[in-house]
Amino acid sequence: MKEIILDHPLISHKISILRSINTGTKEFRELVNEIAMLVCYEAMRDVQLQKGTVTTPITETESYAIDDNHYAFIPILRAGLSMVDGVIRLIPNAKIGHIGLFRNEETLEPQKYYYKVPKKIEEKEVILLDPMLATGGSADAAISMIKEEGVKKIKFLCIIAAPEGIKRIKEKHPDVQIYCAQLDSYLNEVGYIVPGLGDAGDRIFGTK
Ligand code: URA
Repeated sequence: MKEIILDHPLISHKISILRSINTGTKEFRELVNEIAMLVCYEAMRDVQLQKGTVTTPITETESYAIDDNHYAFIPILRAGLSMVDGVIRLIPNAKIGHIGLFRNEETLEPQKYYYKVPKKIEEKEVILLDPMLATGGSADAAISMIKEEGVKKIKFLCIIAAPEGIKRIKEKHPDVQIYCAQLDSYLNEVGYIVPGLGDAGDRIFGTK
């Protein structure tokens, strides 16, 4: 599946502000949520609608409704939390799960420290959220965990991706559609996306 990069002038504008070292926590959080909403808008293009009827002041006509209950958003902790408010503005009754991962410093593999997903997850479409797709290690691990639940349709939403992360997910999970606001150049020797925006979690939570 070919990754979908939004590559839109409004996104370029917002991401340029996100990148700036001078952008403070409040504005950073607001922008991440706005961009997440725009990426989600694109990711919901294939949403299934239930047909009905609606009466306007003029006449009766066809209506369309989303089955909110069919969707589960799962942020990868902690940076993924910053995208939740934006995406649930579009699908307010979607269920929310959480996956917490940290890097085991001996094996360098992502290790689970928190895992809670909605009931009957196997019947839902799951949309994983993480603003930065860097090496793809956490995304790969989170996708595998969700697949083990029996979920058939998974999407991965991010704000900035490195080519290395996209390559890994496409190789390991060719059935997962990646949606990304902007594709950056490469990963540096310590795993940061270049030009990137630094550590998204630290910038969102003001921890550095
Ligand atoms: N995670 C981040 O927050 N930033 C990067 O550049 C890479 C991974």
